[in-house]
Amino acid sequence: MVLLVTLGLFGVLYLQVSAAPVNEMKHLRQCKFWHISDLHLDPTYHVTEDHTKVCFSSKGVPALDPGEFGDFLCDSPYQLILSAFNYMKQADIQPEFIIWTGDSPPHVPKEKLSTDVVINVIANMTHTIRQYFPNLSVYPALGNHDFWPQDQLPTSENKIYDAVAKLWSPWLSPAAVPTLQRGGFYSHVIKPGLRLVSLNTNLYYSPNQLTVNVSDPAGQFQWLEETLELSRQNLEKVYVIAHVPIGYLPFATNTTAIRENHNERLVKIFRNYSDVIQGQFYGHTHRDSIMVLLDQQGEPVNSIFVTSAVTPIKSLLEPYSNNPAIRAYLYNPQDYGLLDIWQFYLNLTEANMEKRSEWKLEYTMTEAFDIEDIQPRSLHELALRLAQPQSKAFVKYFNHFMVSYDLRITCDGYCQTAQVCSVQFLDKESYSKCIVKAGGQVD
Ligand SMILES: [Zn+2]
Ligand SMILES: [Zn+2]
Repeated sequence: MVLLVTLGLFGVLYLQVSAAPVNEMKHLRQCKFWHISDLHLDPTYHVTEDHTKVCFSSKGVPALDPGEFGDFLCDSPYQLILSAFNYMKQADIQPEFIIWTGDSPPHVPKEKLSTDVVINVIANMTHTIRQYFPNLSVYPALGNHDFWPQDQLPTSENKIYDAVAKLWSPWLSPAAVPTLQRGGFYSHVIKPGLRLVSLNTNLYYSPNQLTVNVSDPAGQFQWLEETLELSRQNLEKVYVIAHVPIGYLPFATNTTAIRENHNERLVKIFRNYSDVIQGQFYGHTHRDSIMVLLDQQGEPVNSIFVTSAVTPIKSLLEPYSNNPAIRAYLYNPQDYGLLDIWQFYLNLTEANMEKRSEWKLEYTMTEAFDIEDIQPRSLHELALRLAQPQSKAFVKYFNHFMVSYDLRITCDGYCQTAQVCSVQFLDKESYSKCIVKAGGQVD
C-alpha cells in the first residue's frame, strides 16, 4: 500500500507503509514550534522625503533606503511584524506552540520611552500575537529592552513584571505567575514530560546596575537548580528559553553576553543538568548562531540556538546587519530531542522594491550542513568542520549568521576564530585556550 503524506515544506512523500525506511518514518514523528525574537517595534516608522525623520530608532541618521517593510537603520515598522505573522499563519507548519524571546520596544533614547510606553508596546505585541494565533500557547521571555530604563531589570516586584504577568497569564499555568511577578522568570509544563523554563538572563546582563555584585539575583540560580532537579526526578525533559544568551559573543573576542561570573555559574548548572535539558533557545544578538555545550571531558552535551531578529536594525558604523528572520524547530515527540531548523527570512531590499513581502525558506539546518539532526553530537561534528581553514561550511554559516544580508561580506582569519571558538567553548578556561591556540590574545 502506498500512503500519500503531505509534509509541508518537505513536499510530498510516498511511503511504503509495510516497510517505510527509518529516515522517512523519522519525519512522520516530528512536531514543530515557532521561535520569534527581537521584534523591536518602532511605532514612529513612516516613509517620508526627509530620511532623517523616517524613524526615531535611527537617532537622526538618515535612513538608507526606507520602504514599506523597513530600513536597515531602523527598527521594525508594524507592517514588517504583521508580514512575519501573516507568513507564519499561512505556512504549512502546524506548530504546537511559539517561543518568543523578548525585546519588543525600539532602540531609542531613554527620554523617548517610559515605563508606561514600554508596557504599551509589550501589550501591543502580545495582543497582536494572540489575535493572529488564538489557538496557540506562546511562551515569552523578557528582553533587556522590555524594561524602562532599558537593561535595568530589577530583582523584585515592579510595575513591568506585574504587567507582563497579567498579559501573559492566559498562556501560562497559574504556578508560573508568582515567579514572573517577582523576578521575571517562570517554568511551565508544555505537555506531560516536557517543561519549559523561561529565564530572566537580563539579571546577569553587564549593563544591569542593580545586580553588579549580587551572586544570585532574584534567587534565580537556586530556583533554576531546584526546578531542574525536580524535572530530573519526574523524568521530564526541559527546553530553556531566555533573551541574553550564555557563552561568548561570536562577533567579539573575550566577551561574554552576560557577566562572566554569572556565565560561569550558568554553564556549570547546564552541564550538571544536561541529561534533563534537550535544548536552549536565545535571542538578543540579532544574529543566527549555534553553540554546543561540552562537558568537562569535551563531550557534547547540549544544543544551543541563538535566533536572528525580526528587526533589521544596525547602527551606522556596523558593516552588516540581518534580514528579518523567523524560524521553526522540529523535534521528536518521544524524547523531545531536536531534529531540525527551518529558517525563514524576508529579503528586505527586495520586499521594499517590489512593495510586497515574500518570506522565504533560507535554509534547513540538516540539509545545509549535511548533518543527521541538530542534537549535541551532530552540532559538535559541524563545529569541528566550521573551525577548519577555508571551511566551505563556515562560509555558509557566516552568510546565515547575517541572514543572507550580503554574500560579499566575508569572515576569515581572526573573525572566523572568534566565531568558531564561541561555538564550542562557553566557559572562560576552554574559550581562552581556543583563542590562544589560534594565536590570539586573552585579556
Ligand atoms: Zn536584547
Ligand atoms: Zn534586541
